[in-house]
Amino acid sequence: MDSLRRILPWQAYTAGGAVLGVACLLVPGGLLHDALFSCVSLSAAVATAVGARLHRPQRASAWWLLAAGLLAWALGDVSYAVCYTWLDSQTFPDVPDVFYVLAYPLIAAAMLRMARQARPGADREGVIDAAILAVGFGMLSWTFLVRPALHTLPQDLPAGLVALAYPVGDVVVLAMLVRVFSAAGHGSRAFTLLAGAASAMLAADALWQAADAYSTLDATWVDSVFLVSYVLWGAAALHPSMRRLSDPAPSTRHEFSSLRLTVLTAASLLSPGTLGLELALGQPPQGWAVVISSSVLFVLVVTRMSALLGRLREQTALLGDLARTDPLTGLLNRRSADAELQRVRSRAEREGVPLVVALLDLDHFKVFNDTHGHPAGDRLLVGAATAWRTALAGRGVQLARWGGEEFLAVSCGTPPEQVEELLSGLRAVVPEGQTFSAGLARWDGREDTARLLARADQALYAAKHAGRACTRTAPEEAERVHPAR
Ligand code: GH3
Ligand code: MG
Ligand code: MG
Repeated sequence: MDSLRRILPWQAYTAGGAVLGVACLLVPGGLLHDALFSCVSLSAAVATAVGARLHRPQRASAWWLLAAGLLAWALGDVSYAVCYTWLDSQTFPDVPDVFYVLAYPLIAAAMLRMARQARPGADREGVIDAAILAVGFGMLSWTFLVRPALHTLPQDLPAGLVALAYPVGDVVVLAMLVRVFSAAGHGSRAFTLLAGAASAMLAADALWQAADAYSTLDATWVDSVFLVSYVLWGAAALHPSMRRLSDPAPSTRHEFSSLRLTVLTAASLLSPGTLGLELALGQPPQGWAVVISSSVLFVLVVTRMSALLGRLREQTALLGDLARTDPLTGLLNRRSADAELQRVRSRAEREGVPLVVALLDLDHFKVFNDTHGHPAGDRLLVGAATAWRTALAGRGVQLARWGGEEFLAVSCGTPPEQVEELLSGLRAVVPEGQTFSAGLARWDGREDTARLLARADQALYAAKHAGRACTRTAPEEAERVHPAR
């Protein structure tokens, strides 16, 4: 009894649905067969409504739409049995067609809602992918299902339109399934069940239409595919993970996975593939359908490529920013400061303007950390960096975080005395009344940047030695190396 209670609703439903489905298939056509078939079909709509109530997903509207769509479908099944099996109706379209044709937009709207909930706003890539699959399969459907069916139909317009609504409905539902796949899902069990349900329903529907178009095909086993799809719809809605189905998919899903590439390639090849199949089967090829669908597919693929290039450009820019900046202070990091210094050195050489570098180091920062804690130390670093950047804005001085509590200022075109003055202006804006020492060095016109920085570092050391909270300027290289001259 206890183990019975542990059986979850979705498991119980799937087991019950499977039993009824198998029973239905074992009973050949007749009242019992139709009753069992309609029962399983109706159960999908009921289970979807029960799932929406039971699991109370945050956005239940999609599931209620789906329940409505499945109910319309089930009413189609029930009235189909009544009309064609029991009343022996010969008319087309008849009552069941009304329900079936109504079911497609409801199911498609439910899926669109799921995709929109997971990825609000424009999902351009998802839309293009959906369109690629819709056009590819649309071409296949048009060639092998719609056209042959049109020939066998009475030549009146309403009948033609209703007959057309089935394959069009399938293609639209397929497109919405692709959108759900690209936006939501994140591999939850409910998503897998839902995707299986929709795929089975589309496959069964296509087979059904094929059986209609080619009377040589045996349609009886198509019932089993429909039954599988009904049970899967219900199981998806009853599975607890249905609550998370409308959560956004991880961004990796949106990247160009190899599965996505394979599916899109296959879908793009459906149009020329259909032409090849027609030629192989000795059917008269439909030139215009191939021309139109291939052209649309080509434009879609190129649009998709350009969307991908745009994304690549965005990511490259983002990565460039990340590689250039220090994550804590947002200043240039050491790597880009190094590159900037090389660039500025070339400019100073070219234009013959002064190049001055200064290393700024917070005084007794270790004590500050020890007293106020590391996070407060971080805040001080950010505060100092922000205040300095503001103070130096428009003064031709580039500021970078050189490492730890040490900063590098690079100035090109400003005389050293003026730079020193600018630096002393920075003392007043350090938060928490903290001080810093600075070592300044002017480029001698020949030395490399490493040598220039080493001299600034020696000057900083001298400033620390002199009691901190002051600036020292490195002696000119010529004086130091050749004091005699
Ligand atoms: P001096 O006046 O000689 O420069 O003394 P100091 O304590 O500032 O210098 P010291 O080199 O002894 O210590 C630097 C400290 O800076 C040690 C390290 O924990 C701290 N520090 C380095 N990077 C960070 C950081 O990103 N955040 C925080 N909170 N502390 C940092
Ligand atoms: Mg320090
Ligand atoms: Mg230091």
